Amino acid sequence: MPKLRQDPATRLWSIIATERRKRPDDFVRHDEAAESLPSYDENCPFCPGNESKTPEPVFSVSDPEAGAAGKWSVRVVPNKFPALVRPDGEGDTTRRVRKCMYLEMDGTGEHEVVIETPDHSKTLATLSEDEVTMVVRTYRDRFLALDKSPWNQMIIIFRNQGEGAGTSLVHPHSQIIGTPVVPEEIRRRLDASQRYYDDLGTCVYCDILDYEIKEKTRVVCSNSGFVALCPFASAVPFEVWILPRRHASSFGVLSDGEIPLLGKMLRDVLQRMYRLLGNPDYNYVVRSAPHHSAGEPHFHWYVEILPRLTTRAGFEIGSGININVVVPEDAAEQLRKAG
Ligand SMILES: [Zn+2]
Ligand SMILES: [Zn+2]
Repeated sequence: MPKLRQDPATRLWSIIATERRKRPDDFVRHDEAAESLPSYDENCPFCPGNESKTPEPVFSVSDPEAGAAGKWSVRVVPNKFPALVRPDGEGDTTRRVRKCMYLEMDGTGEHEVVIETPDHSKTLATLSEDEVTMVVRTYRDRFLALDKSPWNQMIIIFRNQGEGAGTSLVHPHSQIIGTPVVPEEIRRRLDASQRYYDDLGTCVYCDILDYEIKEKTRVVCSNSGFVALCPFASAVPFEVWILPRRHASSFGVLSDGEIPLLGKMLRDVLQRMYRLLGNPDYNYVVRSAPHHSAGEPHFHWYVEILPRLTTRAGFEIGSGININVVVPEDAAEQLRKAG
């Protein structure tokens, strides 16, 4: 009998389709893996030596051990084809225009690309712990920088790995977008956690953490700062959330001491997926509160990793209910073993 499960933090339902249950092997890719890429591609705009093909960097970390091949280890540049653009004048960036019942506003915001390594052939799963930590530190620092701009209501950090996850460039990179509105996706999460807090007086994510640590079956791995788990109502096979143990609603408060712990955990989880599923396509998103909700007691930031192993089809689009063919407890067990 399939089960409908609801996530208390998002109020989203998933169908855990045990009848169509799949094994990790059913998803393993046997085509080209990242290792077969060259570590340098002369036509890649993100490779060292091609820095002039991208806009001027807004941030970069220099590599003390770099030879002639590269002088940086992480580089952040404005996206050449931004989804939202930084305003250039004084204009009112919050102004909405009513067109009868329709609403329109200028597409101001920010769109940056984090080039995670000079090495074209790598991915976060194959970088060193220190390198991934540097990427996490860059996320935190850019988050804080963009959060200062009055036109950014919300900062979204995300990574698209592989063609199936929507990436157009293979060179390892993630992206950061600042939006001038609070998107519905986060609004719904804020509402759900607010209602939970109103009813029970506690943060739903803190409660999930407490429960899952005791329950154990859905925990993938943990360290002193973070816990990685497959959520009870996982929307997709092998979905993993990395939750900070310390309650905080905004990613911007990630402390210097927590950065290496998150770097270590992010790499560990992605490595497990890489081994178990054969370098799968995935998206991850840092779910953080918008600017004006930075101190909320009811919301709790986290990293949501969604492997792209199945395709969202008509039912998912029509209902918002995902059909997940891997039981979250099984996914967690397999990921634990892949450590
Ligand atoms: Zn490259
Ligand atoms: Zn919390």
